[in-house]
Amino acid sequence: MFLPLHVLFYHRLNYPRKQDCWLWPENQLNSSGYGQLTIFRKGRRSRLLAHRLSYQIHKGKIPPGLQVMHTCDVKRCVNPHHLKVGTQLENEADKVIRGRSSRGEDRWCATITNKDAQKLLDQFRTGESIPILAARYQVTYWVAYSIAKRTRWKYLV
Ligand SMILES: [Zn+2]
Repeated sequence: MFLPLHVLFYHRLNYPRKQDCWLWPENQLNSSGYGQLTIFRKGRRSRLLAHRLSYQIHKGKIPPGLQVMHTCDVKRCVNPHHLKVGTQLENEADKVIRGRSSRGEDRWCATITNKDAQKLLDQFRTGESIPILAARYQVTYWVAYSIAKRTRWKYLV
């Protein structure tokens, strides 16, 4: 007898809490980083995308032509509360918006070490221009500007 899909699904999760991301096991991700569930039916192996399966288990059918999108931006997450359906265009647009607001910020912060930021500030004070400092420390103009003008990295001395 085959186990129902929702049993296979929950078997892979460690008593998830409603509000958290439900992370699919790391060793069961596809090459794009999405969770997948491998099942055997009638002698054939097939792979299901875990977040799509989660949507189907908890929310019902996925309307034809629509994608299941993550509102939390965590590919591994299969929490149905973090999933919604949308068109491919909406999905792409969402990614761009999130990339600008959250991931862009992370990258932005990681572009320069505190030590280099301190050096950049010191050299700005001795008369070096912002474009030259930006090139020297390989950061964008705006990062160099915000360090020099103390709009970020306020803890520098
Ligand atoms: Zn999530």
